Formats: sequence, structure tokens, C-alpha cells
Amino acid sequence: MNQIIDPWGSSIIDYDKLTQQFGIRPFGEVIDDVPNPSKLMTRGIIFGQRDYKQINDALNNNKPFATITGMMPSGKMHIGHKMVVDQLKWYQKKGSDIFLSIADMEAYAARSINKEEARKLALEEYVANYIALGLDVTKDNFHLYLQSENEEIKNLAYMIGKKVTFNQMRSIYGFDNSTNVSHIYTPLLQVADILQPQLEKYGGPKPVIVPVGPDQDPHIRLTRDLSSKFNDEFGFIEPSATFHRFMTGLTGEKMSSSKPKSAIYLTDSTKEAVKKVKSAKTGGRESLKEQKELGGQPDKCSIYELLVYHLIDDDEKLEEIKNKCLNGETLCGNCKQLAFELLEDMFEELESKREESKEIAQSLL
Ligand code: SF4
Repeated sequence: MNQIIDPWGSSIIDYDKLTQQFGIRPFGEVIDDVPNPSKLMTRGIIFGQRDYKQINDALNNNKPFATITGMMPSGKMHIGHKMVVDQLKWYQKKGSDIFLSIADMEAYAARSINKEEARKLALEEYVANYIALGLDVTKDNFHLYLQSENEEIKNLAYMIGKKVTFNQMRSIYGFDNSTNVSHIYTPLLQVADILQPQLEKYGGPKPVIVPVGPDQDPHIRLTRDLSSKFNDEFGFIEPSATFHRFMTGLTGEKMSSSKPKSAIYLTDSTKEAVKKVKSAKTGGRESLKEQKELGGQPDKCSIYELLVYHLIDDDEKLEEIKNKCLNGETLCGNCKQLAFELLEDMFEELESKREESKEIAQSLL
């Protein structure tokens, strides 16, 4: 049975099936050419890519390129979202232009969130956290905008809409007769977001990388298709993308902003974050005896995932934790203790930067 990818709701787990069905290529095919790859790359968290070779070319030959991501402000930012910030920071250090779109028009069409709410949420919740996590928003090549206030995006979306039909939109996104027309239009805004860095105003055609979760692949496929149709007019290069895994929630299902028990929110107090870690589901066995005999299951453990994705830089240390778990030489309590100590440091730092980051965020728009 085919998997449907829905950017507004589904949870995707079967990464192999996804790559086979939709033609996402393994990131392993290109990683050897990446100069000093990030931990997210070397640890397989970024598992897939489309056309990454042109980004490697830019990275290795000092050519201009851009990185774009968008945020639909509809809920709280959780620790899984930090992965996108880590990637933006990595590309920013490599000299990329950074584009950050606040998808307030999409939030209105798909979630009935009005413009003022979307703006407030985006700046106070998302952009402030991006800044607190270390994204440099003071650089000239950093661009932040609200879709509804960006005339270029709206004009481009309207133009490119000429070369896509309702039938195509329906087959890509699963729209039906009850979908409101504004919602049907919003993917064209995402396409325009992704193509914008290639407009003359921003230096003309160049490679663009979009780091996303696999649920956003419909936008990538549509953009690549439409960019080739406007090649004569704008000289667009088909954008590249990478795809990262979703974090498992603390309850064992996908981490989600709408499920408070599954997620550690970046605005949680240090105390709340630590409390959530203490009650998280692990890959430990039923009893101490079983744990010692059979070993634990780090591949099914939300604590181990936290260490891999966010808390431990040192690969050897991670390997040691994994081996001790598999051999039954350590207990889940020890891992939780380590995880919450490290998380405590991260959250204390975030808390200390929060107010200043909010002020900076407000000054950007
Ligand atoms: Fe997870 Fe650590 Fe328990 Fe292993 S010992 S299942 S890594 S918490």
C-alpha cells in the first residue's frame, strides 16, 4: 500500500518505504563529499536528500547558495524542532544566505489563525528560540519575513499557479471538494518561498537547500517541477532538499506540539523539562533481572534519542552508552540522570537568553 505524505497532519515512520516510493535518495550517497559534515548527517538523522550534489559543489568551491526554511506558527516549538535550527546554523557558518519565512497565510488558511496571532506566536515562540539557540540574525544575508507582507512571494505564487492544475494539486496533497480555496493556494506560497532566493534581487539563480522533515516532500516535489517550467523566464535551478527523521516522543509515539506529554517544549522551565525526562518511556526491560540478562533496547528509547539528537557531541561516549545498554551493564536510571543533567544545562542557557532573544525577534519585523 502506498504511503500518503500529508504536510498538514500525517506521521511518517517508514523511512525506507518513503525513499523507495517517492524517490528521495539516501544521504549516505553524498556524505563523503560534504566538508566537515554535521552530527545530524554523520549519525543518520538526516537520512535522505534530493539533488544534494549541487550543494556539495557550492560548499566545496565557495559558490553562493541559500538555505530556506519556513514556520507555520500554530503551536509551541519543541526540542525536535531544534534540528532545523541546528541545520540553519551549520549552513550559516558555511556562508549560506538564510531565508526564514513565517507562513502566516498558510496558518490562516489551514488552521484559522489570524495574522496578528501568527506574527506574535512566530516572533515570541519561534524566532526568539532560533536566536536563543544561536542563529545569527544580525548578518546582512539573513532574511526574515511574513508571507502576507512579502509582495514578491505573493506575485511569484500567483504567476507559478498558471502552470499547475487543480487535478495536480489534488493528487499531490489529497485535497478534496471540502478543502477551502485559500488552503489549495498555500502550497504555491511555499513554492514561491523556496524560489525567492533565486530572484535577481537576491543575486539571481543559485543552488538552494531546504532542510525538512519528510512530510514536507510534496512541497519540494512541486517546487522542483514548477521551477523547471519557469526556467526560461527566471533561470531557476531546481532546489535541493535534505530530509531528517522525526524525534520519538517521550511517550513512545511521534513527538508533537499538540501532545504535551510527548514533547519537551523549548519554553518549558528547566524544572518542567527535567520532570518530563524523568517520566519518559525508555527501551528498558520490565525488570532489573531482564535488563541485566537481555540488555536494553536503545533503538526504541526516547532517552537515548535525546542524547543522540541533542545532548552528546562525543561519538565515543555515545557508543559506550549504547554498548553498555545492549550488554545490560547500565540501567535506565543512569541514562535519565545523565540526560536531565545535560538538559538542565541547555535549558538554563535558553532561559537566561529568553527575554533578550524576544526583544531582538520583535525588532526584526
Ligand atoms: Fe535507554 Fe539507557 Fe535504558 Fe538503554 S539503559 S534503554 S539507552 S535509558
